[in-house]
Amino acid sequence: MDSLEAKDIINHLIKQKKAALVFTPNAEIVVQAHADKEFLEILRSAQLILPDGSSLLWAAKALKKPLKARVTGIDLMQLLLPEAEKKGWTVFFLGAKQEILEKAVCNTLRNYPSLKLAGYHHGYFKNDIIPLQVINQVKPDLLFVGMGAPKQERWLYQYKNQLECGVAMVVGGSFDILAGKTKRAPFWMQKRGLEWLYRYLQEPARIKRSLLLPKFVGLVLAERKRLRKKEGLF
Ligand code: UDP
Repeated sequence: MDSLEAKDIINHLIKQKKAALVFTPNAEIVVQAHADKEFLEILRSAQLILPDGSSLLWAAKALKKPLKARVTGIDLMQLLLPEAEKKGWTVFFLGAKQEILEKAVCNTLRNYPSLKLAGYHHGYFKNDIIPLQVINQVKPDLLFVGMGAPKQERWLYQYKNQLECGVAMVVGGSFDILAGKTKRAPFWMQKRGLEWLYRYLQEPARIKRSLLLPKFVGLVLAERKRLRKKEGLF
């Protein structure tokens, strides 16, 4: 599935108004889910799971279940915002620091002046119920949640039965990008699967997370070995 196909599925899910969850895991998230059964269940509860990372494409190919394309949260969000403007969907932003979020809202409305942005709330709340109440007051068609993993997935899973929205999609650090605080990698890096490298250079504090990548490779290779054994290849 590519971003355009994902957009079509979301179009369909929005009409059902059942708070469908859309998650976009990368290699780090897969490693976390492997070590934490509860988090794995949370990921599995999504109506749509999209591979946000070239390492997942590599893993899928290695396990003989190739995926069509990488679908990042920010790419899909940038397809959904004009769609929301065109279709009149109401949208809510949850996540990021207040001043960053305000900039993201401003820039988004500059780009999509007719967008029905029903509300927004920062992602550093002490009481989980506050953003839930604000969201349910406006019942958005499309809720974007950017609080970083696993916080965003856990929050959505915990409140999914109380949330009144069409689709709730996680977007990680996308509000920071919309605000201009962080930049996306140049297109040539994105195409060559090097966006992770650009992010580490831009935010060196993230380097700690890269320690999970060898673990991811190890998990994939072990799974490939297990599958080959099952098939009697060796
Ligand atoms: N964030 C948040 N609440 C928190 C922790 C983080 O809203 O308690 C925001 C943070 O300000 C940033 C985003 O979540 O905008 C994290 O982005 P990151 O790039 O780390 O996302 P990931 O790579 O984990 O998807």
